[in-house]
Amino acid sequence: MEFAVDPRTRERLQEARAWGRAAMRPAGLESDRQAAPLPVDHPYFAKAVERGGGRTRWPGPSGRPSADAERTSVVASLLLAEELAYWDRGVFVADPGPGLPETNVLALGTEEQKERFLGPFVAPDRPRWACFAMTEPGAGSDAAAIATTARRDGDGWILNGAKCFIGGASRSDWILVQATLDPAKGRAAQRAFFVERGTPGLGDFKIEKKMGLRAYESTSFTLRDCRVSAANLLGGETGGDSRAGFKTAMRTFNAGRPVIAANAVGMGRAAFDEALAFARAHDLLCRDRVRDRLEAMARVLRMARLVCLRAGWLADRERPNIVEASMAKALAAGLAQQATTLGIELLGTVGARGDHLIEKLYRDVKAMDIVEGTGQVQRVIIARQLVGLPR
Ligand SMILES: Cc1cc2nc3c(=O)[nH]c(=O)nc-3n(C[C@H](O)[C@H](O)[C@H](O)COP(=O)(O)OP(=O)(O)OC[C@H]3O[C@@H](n4cnc5c(N)ncnc54)[C@H](O)[C@@H]3O)c2cc1C
Repeated sequence: MEFAVDPRTRERLQEARAWGRAAMRPAGLESDRQAAPLPVDHPYFAKAVERGGGRTRWPGPSGRPSADAERTSVVASLLLAEELAYWDRGVFVADPGPGLPETNVLALGTEEQKERFLGPFVAPDRPRWACFAMTEPGAGSDAAAIATTARRDGDGWILNGAKCFIGGASRSDWILVQATLDPAKGRAAQRAFFVERGTPGLGDFKIEKKMGLRAYESTSFTLRDCRVSAANLLGGETGGDSRAGFKTAMRTFNAGRPVIAANAVGMGRAAFDEALAFARAHDLLCRDRVRDRLEAMARVLRMARLVCLRAGWLADRERPNIVEASMAKALAAGLAQQATTLGIELLGTVGARGDHLIEKLYRDVKAMDIVEGTGQVQRVIIARQLVGLPR
């Protein structure tokens, strides 16, 4: 495994650092203090698009990447994800773009679907969003239990159900909705449907109150006899075998876990830096116990980064990385929580006051253990692979 960071990635990391410091951290603090997501017309988003953000990895209908498109390895994108989350993980997720469902569409979408749904993200004229809706009030970790139904109706489909905690749903151009064709058949009957904004029956958007990561919206919504055309079924009528719908959804999470892990390492680093700066300023480093705790934290955060990069390195070679992806997420999310706890403890009343970055990080970081498979679920996945639990 190559550990050197190539010059272009180094340059992009420096750009990310400058952008994070100047734009992301202030936007994140602003939204946290107002306890509301950054509004769609916030200048931050226009600036993000101006500097080339919010674009799809899809090269466009010609199949040729545009002149300014840059191929980013998974390892490089993880290093960037760490750096950006260092400045503000909520803003990192709030950023415009085709987001979580892009991997699904690239893997399973028809050419027509890529053009229709990813096309507007090739050179976006304004901040645009898309999102992936899996979670329901009765189906979180057990994604096979989703109850949103899709029923064939002439040349289209009728969707009924409720989704919750979906990132950016009310501002998305389209939502990729995971639904079941037959609840009795479990995961084998799941497929995904593009539901465009304004489709009759899509509504009741309610932005959830969150303890942290307030910069981006997490939204519940309902689908009531919501009709979409046959062309909105991801992959089309013949798109893959009967298990493809569920498998592809899981592929999105496998690709996402190392990113969450990298985000967690970045947040852990931010907490560590706050703790170290405070300890230096208040002469705490002369105390062995304080020094030891800081040293141990710095050491394990670097360890988590290595596991995360290993997951990315395997993905770059298209080799199975399920164990490493789950290990990275389980490890990094837990350690990042420890880093914010250490920060709160060292800062004492200063940290607990409610207006210090460490307090925000302490609230922000818990979600890293929950999203895209909780820590417990990651351990189940690892155990299945390494110990062989019954499926
Ligand atoms: C900030 C945030 C953003 C989110 N964004 C999205 C999004 O964009 N799209 C989307 O679809 N979803 C999203 N989610 C939902 C997220 O994926 C779910 O919260 C997650 O899957 C856990 O589901 P749950 O909350 O229903 O918990 P449950 O599944 O009810 O779990 C409750 C507890 O039981 C444990 N548990 C469950 N099953 C097992 C098991 N087999 N073994 C051991 N322990 C187990 C869990 O670890 C957890 O501690 C988001 C959630 C949050 C908090």
